[in-house]
Amino acid sequence: MTSKIVPQPGIMDIAPYVGGASKVEGVKDIVKLSSNENPFGASDAAKEAYRRAAQDLHRYPSTDHAELRAAIAAHHGLDPDRIICGTGSDEIIHFLCQAYAGPGDEVLYTEHGFSMYKISASAAGATPVCVKERERVIDVDAILAGCTEDTKLVFIANPANPTGTMIGGNEVARLAAGIPEQAILVLDGAYVEYVEGFDGGAGLVESRDNVVKTRTFSKIYGLGGLRIGWGYGPKEIIDVLNRIRGPFNLSSGQLAAAEAAIKDHAHLEHSRSENTRLRAWLAEALAEHGVASDTSCANFILARFASQQEAEAADDFLKARGLIVRRVAGYNLPNCLRITVGDESSCRRVAYAIGQFKAGVPA
Ligand SMILES: *Cc1c(COP(=O)(O)O)cnc(C)c1O
Repeated sequence: MTSKIVPQPGIMDIAPYVGGASKVEGVKDIVKLSSNENPFGASDAAKEAYRRAAQDLHRYPSTDHAELRAAIAAHHGLDPDRIICGTGSDEIIHFLCQAYAGPGDEVLYTEHGFSMYKISASAAGATPVCVKERERVIDVDAILAGCTEDTKLVFIANPANPTGTMIGGNEVARLAAGIPEQAILVLDGAYVEYVEGFDGGAGLVESRDNVVKTRTFSKIYGLGGLRIGWGYGPKEIIDVLNRIRGPFNLSSGQLAAAEAAIKDHAHLEHSRSENTRLRAWLAEALAEHGVASDTSCANFILARFASQQEAEAADDFLKARGLIVRRVAGYNLPNCLRITVGDESSCRRVAYAIGQFKAGVPA
């Protein structure tokens, strides 16, 4: 068919996002460790708030998200007027690209960076520019060298996915100070809560006018299925993003659940401390079986194998035993598998299976 109906430039360059698998044909007792979900689920208070919201499904939700923004602001000590909420932090990333980047503009991200940066940049018609990392760690000098007069956005996740590594506050500050004056630095803080005492660069957002941070309810809050995230930045930038935000982008159920979730400190603390404990245990257990990993600051471990072939064989072996992890060849990490830190029994199952795989036991 020849057609005059064609999509905007950049759209056909997008390879559709591939999510973590959740099924294995013929295997019943499945543990999904492929999407960095909280193994303890969402807070009971959040589930209850979501159920209660069902009573008012005929009502349109709030358009300004004032109550959720107030709850976020109170929890983090932020100015509620500088918070914007979205359907996942993915939507905030999307708003930033739509509002600040278009044809001829460049959007920087790093070698093993989250795939949504590239997808959203391309969707906006901008040029995604990939910058090298150094041994799976973000390289500030390489990013600064990669900036041009066309750079409009620089995305980093800190801690990063899928590497789990992070860079220190001084390095982030050096990056913010060094990017060109027409560019915004976006600090994606999807895993910030897993780092005890780390504010995800909130101080930088306060002290500078070119930094935006994003956060999500999908990871430690265990609400990935509901799709809620938020951004925080200079008032002028948040005002711009709000102009392209749909007035009812968050439903009443999303708003209610997120508000309850952020007030449940006990669930947050439990999720964080169990992750810290089990992450260390799992990394050690894998190392004992000869599978190395970088020190992870998030809720997953990037397990390194000798080759792509061995990583794929390990993935097949785990899958046959009902353990679904993530291949990350698409993130230029072909000899690695990303394994979410599950609950204790899942971690034990993974460690045991890797031990058997390494010992040459048939799956
Ligand atoms: C999981 C993840 C997100 C969260 O996306 P949501 O749209 O909020 O679910 C954002 N950034 C990174 C790097 C992630 O790994």
